[in-house]
Amino acid sequence: LNLRRISARDGVSVFTDEEYLYYPRPSLYSVLSGRIQPQQIISPPEQWYANQGIKVALRKKVTKVDASNRSITFEDGTKIAYDKLLLANGAYPFIPPVKGAEKKGVFVLRTLDHALAIRQYAGKTRNAVVIGGGLLGLEFAASLRKLGQAVNVLEVSPRLLPNQLDEDGSSVFQKKIENMGINIMLNVRTNEILGEENVSGVSLSDGRTLPGDLILFSAGIRSNIELAREAGIKVNRGIVVDGNLQTSLSDIYAAGDAAEFREKVYGIIPAAEEQARIAATNMIGLDKHEYQGTMPSSTVKIAGIDLTCIGTIIPQNSQQEEIKKLDAERGSYKKIVLQEGRIIGAIILGDVGSVAPIKRLIAGRVGVSKFKNQVLEDNFNFSEIGE
Ligand SMILES: Cc1cc2nc3c(=O)[nH]c(=O)nc-3n(C[C@H](O)[C@H](O)[C@H](O)COP(=O)(O)OP(=O)(O)OC[C@H]3O[C@@H](n4cnc5c(N)ncnc54)[C@H](O)[C@@H]3O)c2cc1C
Repeated sequence: LNLRRISARDGVSVFTDEEYLYYPRPSLYSVLSGRIQPQQIISPPEQWYANQGIKVALRKKVTKVDASNRSITFEDGTKIAYDKLLLANGAYPFIPPVKGAEKKGVFVLRTLDHALAIRQYAGKTRNAVVIGGGLLGLEFAASLRKLGQAVNVLEVSPRLLPNQLDEDGSSVFQKKIENMGINIMLNVRTNEILGEENVSGVSLSDGRTLPGDLILFSAGIRSNIELAREAGIKVNRGIVVDGNLQTSLSDIYAAGDAAEFREKVYGIIPAAEEQARIAATNMIGLDKHEYQGTMPSSTVKIAGIDLTCIGTIIPQNSQQEEIKKLDAERGSYKKIVLQEGRIIGAIILGDVGSVAPIKRLIAGRVGVSKFKNQVLEDNFNFSEIGE
């Protein structure tokens, strides 16, 4: 779409190996819990692409990129030529090397087909185990709980969401999750998936075992880098791109979960969107746009729990200071991290109203020194600082 917006003249074709047109992956939880039907998450509709002049071909898996002949080859043997190529081939869920992970009843969640398969299987199970207590794992646990499963979440870290939350935030958040009837086990490592053909539980490295007839791995992602590697493009954890989102080969760009910029694979939608915009501008060759990285930001809404984490959430040096407000009884926790009077990061748990204004203060690099002790008050009037 960005290419199309910038240039009405150039032909744009999109190829995907999926069966479906675009759908936002965060909606997969609602499909899983049965709240919405699969067709409802597919948007925009087919006609929209035609109206925009974008050709989309489904079930077209790319198996080879030939940079010297500027062509790509598909699984069905057909080939097409390109002038400029964007590799936005995403990532796949990582399954740690745990014995028994190939058994029936072990799942990952990345695609609509995965969500449908899990939902169907959950119709005959009662005890679910989610391996990985990150944001996705917890959302997944909440969806399974809605399906009536008893759910255990296994997390190797000593607290939940160590990259998004500080200790206070983690403990408030954990209590909220536990109130939903989800059991959180911290500091645990999975040793083996138990069962014959079908899973029946997991054994932990401390010797304990847990029942489980549905196991979900939510242990992070790995970028799809093989296509690029075989084409002779520089890869590391992801497809390495420069500030123009160009790979090591000219006229081939990469963006999204597949791409690695300054040794970082972001794995989040805001980064994928920003990279796509900049890659499109540079592919058209209008003028050079430099990508500077994306401020990490995540928002989750798990069964009524709203959590937003933005930017730096723990001060990294003596120039950075934190201000927090904890109301354990109400289950609300807010915190800002400041540097030179500007907010550079925030955790907002249980107060949706202040998310948008705080995001704007961060993005606008607005000085808040005068108000820093009031910003987290529940009824703070953000218009006082020009909001
Ligand atoms: C369940 C779930 C919930 C999420 N929730 C959030 C959230 O709340 N907030 C957030 O910021 N991020 C979230 N994410 C992450 C977010 O979805 C990804 O960052 C985003 O999808 C990345 O977009 P992408 O286009 O780079 O990759 P993808 O969405 O993975 O798209 C890549 C596409 O390329 C296709 N493909 C791969 N290889 C080939 C090939 N060889 N030939 C043809 N096609 C190919 C794939 O099938 C896929 O359709 C979530 C992810 C999941 C799985």
